Parts: sequence; C-alpha cells; structure tokens
Amino acid sequence: MYNERGSISIETENIFPIIKKWLYSEKDIFLRELVSNASDAISKLKKLSDIGEAVLPEGYKPRIEVLVNKEKGTIAISDNGIGMTGEEVKKYINQIAFSGAKEFIEKYKDKTDENQIIGHFGLGFYSSFMVSEKVTIETLSYKEGEKAVLWESTGNTEYTMQDCEKNTVGTVVTLKIAEDSKEFLDTWKVREILKKYFAFLQYEIYLIDENEKKDDKKDKEEKPINNTHPLWLKNPRDCTDEEYKSFYHEVFFDFNDPLFWIHINMDYPFNMKGIIYFPKLKHEFDTLEGKIKLFYNQVFVADNIKEVIPEFLMLLKGCLDCPDLPLNVSRSFLQNEGYVNKISNHITKKVADKLQLLFKKDRGDYEKYWDDINPFVKYGCMREPKFYEKIKDILIYKTINGKYVTQSEYLEKNNQKDKVIYYVNDEKQQAQYINMFKENGIDAVVLNTMIDTHFISFMESQNRDVKFMRVDADIIQNMKADDANNDANKKLAEKYEKIFKEATGKDKLKLTVESLKNESMPAMILISEHARRFKDMSRAFGGLNGNDVFPDEETLVLNVRNTIIQRIAKLYEEDNRREDALLAASHVYDLAMLNHRQLDPETMTKFIERSNGLLMRLL
Ligand code: ADP
Repeated sequence: MYNERGSISIETENIFPIIKKWLYSEKDIFLRELVSNASDAISKLKKLSDIGEAVLPEGYKPRIEVLVNKEKGTIAISDNGIGMTGEEVKKYINQIAFSGAKEFIEKYKDKTDENQIIGHFGLGFYSSFMVSEKVTIETLSYKEGEKAVLWESTGNTEYTMQDCEKNTVGTVVTLKIAEDSKEFLDTWKVREILKKYFAFLQYEIYLIDENEKKDDKKDKEEKPINNTHPLWLKNPRDCTDEEYKSFYHEVFFDFNDPLFWIHINMDYPFNMKGIIYFPKLKHEFDTLEGKIKLFYNQVFVADNIKEVIPEFLMLLKGCLDCPDLPLNVSRSFLQNEGYVNKISNHITKKVADKLQLLFKKDRGDYEKYWDDINPFVKYGCMREPKFYEKIKDILIYKTINGKYVTQSEYLEKNNQKDKVIYYVNDEKQQAQYINMFKENGIDAVVLNTMIDTHFISFMESQNRDVKFMRVDADIIQNMKADDANNDANKKLAEKYEKIFKEATGKDKLKLTVESLKNESMPAMILISEHARRFKDMSRAFGGLNGNDVFPDEETLVLNVRNTIIQRIAKLYEEDNRREDALLAASHVYDLAMLNHRQLDPETMTKFIERSNGLLMRLL
C-alpha cells in the first residue's frame, strides 16, 4: 500500500526553472522523451517475454497512445509496456531520473552555448516539467501480484505516491499543461511533433483527441501516425525502385524523383542502416540543399548533424539509422569517438562505389545525371581526399559540343602536349570564342557553376602538369593560318598600335597581330588566365571594382587576314580617309570588347551613336 509524500532527493531547488530556460527553444523534446520511454517499456516487455520471464496477454499488440484533452488541459502518453512497481517508481523516477537531471545541470551550468546541449542530452522523464504544472504517472507492472501505483508531482521537488485503479499492464503519464505551453494542446501541433520524431517508430502510435465527439470518431478508421517498417530496414534485394521513390517522396516532400540512391545495410563492425538519395536539381544553378536525417533505433534525432555525417554528404538527402551511436551524450563526446570516422569512411566508400558502378556499367546514365550530381561530386572531392582518390578517374566534363569526357579523354582527343584544358564559364558571353574553337575542331569544356572556380584551382593543385585556361585566354596554334609570318606580324603590330591607340584614346592599349585561319573575324580580346583569375578574385572579395582596375591586362588581337583590318591600315595613310580609318578602328575595338564582356554605359552610348552614324552614311 502506497500513501506517501516525499521530497525528491536533489539539492538544486530551482532545477526546473533552469531546465525550462535552457530548453526553451526546443520544448517539444518532452514528447520525444516520453514516447521514447513508452517505446522502451514495450521493448523491455517483449524481451522478457522472449526469454520466458513475462507472459504477454492474449492477442498482445504493442500500442502507444497520445491523448490530447484540450478541455481538461492535459496530454497523456500511454503504453502497454513493462510498467513499474512502486519500488521501481521510487528508484527510477524519484532517484535516478532526478539525479540524471541534476547531473545535466551540473555538467552544463557554465556552458553558454545552448545549442550544443539542447536535444542531445537525455533529460528523460523530467523534460515533461518544461511544459507542465503537474505530472501524474499511473503504472502497473507486469510482475504478478503487483498493485497499480499513482505518482504525482508539481515539479517543486515534492511528490506523492498512492495506490490506484489500473487493470492493464503498462504506464500512463499525464501532463497538466502549464499556462505558457498551451500550444501543446492543439492536436495538429502534437501530430506534427510526433511525425517529426516518430514517423518510423517500431511500435504503432495513435493520436487521440479526447474532445472529439464519439460519433465523429466512429466513421474514422483508426490509423497509426507512423510507419513501423521504414524501407531502410528491408533487405535491399527485396526493395523495388518504386518503393525507393515513394519513400523518398514521403520523407522529403519532393515531388521530383531522385536520380539514384544507395542503400546502406551493415551489421559489422557496427550497425548502420539507411538510404541516401541523389536528388535532382530544380534549376541549373541551384545550390544543392540536402538533408540527412539521423535516427537512433527508428527515432529521429536531428537533421544534418555535422559531428556524425561527413559534410559533403549533407548535399544529398537521406535517412541514416545508427543504433550504436550514443546519441544521448553531448556532441563533443561524439567528435572524439571513432564512430564518426568509421561512419564517414563507410558512407564515402559506398557513394564512390555507386558512382564507379554507374560510370562503368551505364556511362550514358552517368552522363545524364552529371549535370545534377556534379556540384556534389566536386564538393566531395574538395572536402574529402579519400573520396577524390576513389573517383578522380571518373570525373567528367561537359564539352561545348554537348558531349561528356574525362580529363584523359579530353587531353588525348585534343592532342594537348602542354596539357591545357580549355573551358567556358559563360556560354552566351563567350559565344564568339566558342565558335572559333568549334571551327577549328578544338574542344572546350563547360565549367559554369558557382563551385567550378574553386574546383579548377583544386584540380590544378592535384594535377600539377594540367592547366585550365578559359577560351579567351590564348590563341591556340591550331587557330593560326599555316602561312603565318610572325616577324612580319610583329612589325605590323607597331603600326596598328599607333592607329588603335589614337582611335580609342587608350595609350596603354596592348595589341598583337595574328594571322588567323578564320578570315571573317577582324579582332578579339584576350585576357591572360592568370590576370583574369586575379581580377575575379579581387572582385569576389569585394574591395576592388574589377572591371577597371586592371584594364591593361586585356590584349586586343587583330587578324591581319581580315579585310577590314587590312583596309584600316591602308586608309590611315590616305589623308582624306584617315578619320574613317580611326572610326573603323574604334568600332572594331568596341565589337571585340562586346564579345568579351559588357561595355560600360559610356562606351555603349558612344558605340550606339557611332553605329547610327555609320548607318546614315550607308543609306
Ligand atoms: P532514461 O529513459 O534515460 O533512463 P528517464 O528519466 O526517461 O531516463 O526514465 C527513468 C526510468 O524510468 C527509465 O529508465 C525506466 O526504467 C523508467 N520509466 C520511465 N518511463 C517509463 C514507462 N513509460 N514505462 C516503464 N518504465 C518507465
């Protein structure tokens, strides 16, 4: 017979205000803790029954109920698990649980970074006081001859214990919700929280609105809020593509199908199961925004925990269930554990293997996916040396002709003794250069995403003999006419320099003269790769207005095989046509510039005026 009052053995009188304050931002974890306890209680009972220590009632079905009663202002969590005897309540609730809370306070009272603590320290049962003014436990142990016990506390370290009426084995924890936490009396809110943490719990959870009229209830079929068999638990051999896809839609609310996926199913040396998906990008320039949901025995822990999941994987989407991880401990502890490395290595290997397999078996598919997966793959390479090592030979590049090639394929095909990979980073702006490459049968690759600038530098650092050059960085030998006479061109350059400097008013103008195969092109602008990268970098770091700081890094290349260029030199010598020659030179310069980058407003205005003037003369 219990009928006692007691004081919970704890010195810190004001423990609850502290817990409340600390956990304020993640109040809903009380539900996670209480439903987890309910689930544990069921697991314990099942285990005891397995070893013949307990007898399950006939037709036993594990069941957790969450009952919301807005009128009474209560939430109750009920389970048909192991239950507790009076002595166990004293031991587990009055002593151990409280000391757990006390330990929590002592460990973290000096820590200022709340986010480090919140949600990752098993506050257990006592987190219920974060939202309650009174908590009641009614429980009946599975042990024969035990009586049901009612425990009650208002959270001021006082409790009462008495006998009570309860005929079924299990536990009901009832919370009288405090004034400042009334939002937890809304069924939709509770459903949302349960869905967040327990969408895949192994035992069925039912959410019951006790204020709903009986008649309304009748029509509704009773349905658990969770899926007790998440796909990751199934043997990969038995899973269909459709199952993988629909699981993806269900979990990530993404209407697009994933591209492909990896099913992780390992038991040794530690237990880890999960599915990782490669999502499809919605827009070409989308930055990948992934989400790896971490579970602990089918209970959701958190998204994207960087202490557990390799950073580059966070660009993907997936679920990982790691029942061996001590997730109830602080994150700093996790960091020191070998787990993280092991998990990270295993997943990295799996992902690399999958990419290898695709490349070897279905190169067509691999190429089809490349536009979507390349930011991820590139990021992974830069972040994870092991990953780079594994997949460096299957990195591919899209060419200006829409084909996909590996680095060695590119170098082989383009017979690049000097190992230069030409690239485009803006297909529209660099159209003229692209045409020139195409006309001369030279390939260039397209590297136009945010990550590519870094990726280029990374690749150069890994392959010291390979250089990347943008298509406007250089004139390739192939583009020059066979009869090019370099000495003659050098002489001509002096002459043209005078004309073009005079025409443009730019006395620092750099100019060279070439004999290009393509006669129809009068001029183009080149900018050395090195100078351009430097310029881009300065611009990226803010301070400098890149366009004008190093204007003289750009070189005007004139094609002496082009008639306009030849005529300019000729007319310049004729007194009455000299002005026309200068006008044509200015125009040639602006046109070359236009093909290179945007003109500044002033130059553009002049260009348009000049164009109109030319039209007038023509008509
Ligand atoms: P933890 O779950 O981390 O051990 P808690 O404070 O949540 O800490 O719970 C303390 C103990 O109380 C549990 O270990 C368990 O023995 C007991 N307990 C809590 N909830 C239940 C329940 N629903 N059914 C049976 N025992 C419970």
